[in-house]
Amino acid sequence: MYVVSCPNCAHPCPVSLDRPDAATCPACGFAGALPPDLRGRLEAAAGLLKGIDVRHRQLTGQQRSVLGSGCGFTVILATVVTVFMIPAIIWAAVNVGLALEARTLGNTVLSLVLGLSPALVLLLGATVSYLLLRRVRDRLKRATVAAPPFEGSTAARCRVCSAELVSTGDAIVRCAFCEADNIVDSSIVSDAAQAQYQVLEGFERVVSDAGQSLHRAARHGVVAVIASLASAPVLAFLFAMIAYAALSAVEQPANLELRYTILDTPGGRCLARVYESGDGSFELSFGVATPPGASTTSRRTTLEGLEIVNAQWVVGRDVRSHYFSTPSTGRVTAIVGDLTGETNFTTLQGWSVPIEGLCLVTPE
Ligand SMILES: [Zn+2]
Ligand SMILES: [Zn+2]
Repeated sequence: MYVVSCPNCAHPCPVSLDRPDAATCPACGFAGALPPDLRGRLEAAAGLLKGIDVRHRQLTGQQRSVLGSGCGFTVILATVVTVFMIPAIIWAAVNVGLALEARTLGNTVLSLVLGLSPALVLLLGATVSYLLLRRVRDRLKRATVAAPPFEGSTAARCRVCSAELVSTGDAIVRCAFCEADNIVDSSIVSDAAQAQYQVLEGFERVVSDAGQSLHRAARHGVVAVIASLASAPVLAFLFAMIAYAALSAVEQPANLELRYTILDTPGGRCLARVYESGDGSFELSFGVATPPGASTTSRRTTLEGLEIVNAQWVVGRDVRSHYFSTPSTGRVTAIVGDLTGETNFTTLQGWSVPIEGLCLVTPE
């Protein structure tokens, strides 16, 4: 609110840039022309405003969306979250199902982390977007709120030039004098603590600042809201991938529950994995590193006559792996598991190779 000292009683007397010739004192009732110097200042400030691009005090379409008029950002946020939440929830449900069926702790943890992280990150992203949206909206409202009516009147005043605003029934009214957008929602107008600016030294700077407040205050906020809206789904899936990579990098101890047996093959005695089939029979498998001349799997109704061992058995033995086209050989010094707990590995000549399919190297 711009005020001058009443020429009659010195009480603060509100004035507006559109009526530099008139002031009405709320204290003594004085109504009339202002002294020439004050009038000159009001006219100079009005001239200053004319030189500032009106768009700097008007709301953009996006800012209006943030404020909730038209297709509001809250609706967009809810839509984005719903659209991406549906696949995220299906994905979570599938993985929780897998986690419940998993036979190893590693598999359970993996399924839960990978399954739940997209939904959780999406929820987190939506919350951050919503809080950001609310903050930008509050800031925008404070920057756009109209000034309260002068005493003895009910019409809200333009926040930039103090001209009387003609109500259109809309929440946002454009000033007829300086074309600034004003929010005239009465609850906000009355809440706003209205500073009084004397029409004295520095007055023009105050007017100039008000004349471009929206340009400065709120343009970046809307971009931030849009960015955070768009990034939530991307972040959700990025997080799942990072979680997977991080979990994979953790070296797991070997799973000593897994059973192996030693079978004779044309290439010597080799380790096969023992799987129990649902019908009570057994499948013996060399897996992806099947020794030359041997068949990858064979079936037995009983394990009788077979030596059943765990992965530890191979430690300290000289072995050859056919995992790569050029066989790698060496002495097994250590065994490790993997994230799923379904395969054990050792390192031969710098390469990680599975335990099943390893053949014993017998000294010549
Ligand atoms: Zn007075
Ligand atoms: Zn105005």
